[in-house]
Amino acid sequence: MPKDMTFEKTMEAMSKMSPEEMKNTIAELTKMCICGKCPSYKGTGEKRLLFCATGKSTLIKNEKGCLCPTCPVTEKIGLRWIYYCTKGSGKEQSGM
Ligand code: SF4
Ligand code: SF4
Repeated sequence: MPKDMTFEKTMEAMSKMSPEEMKNTIAELTKMCICGKCPSYKGTGEKRLLFCATGKSTLIKNEKGCLCPTCPVTEKIGLRWIYYCTKGSGKEQSGM
């Protein structure tokens, strides 16, 4: 097990949320997502955000840099990975 389990704790807390709380949390995190400014995102026609929670993009194929380490969502929910749009959500990359 990794030493820093913040992300795993976040996932556990989110799994106990009501659908309403979950919807509000996703909306709040989506507002913080900075994927729209990312070189891998721009020009792909992608409109979705929050790949760290929702999983891979079907449109982003080329990894031209990833802004996730500087995104406030990374710290807020304890993410430890990058390239969620091409490699999968935090949950997927954590192997949970
Ligand atoms: S960590 Fe990356 S995918 Fe997740 S909200 Fe931030 S910029 Fe978007
Ligand atoms: S997940 Fe990372 S690489 Fe993909 S669009 Fe967001 S910031 Fe860019």
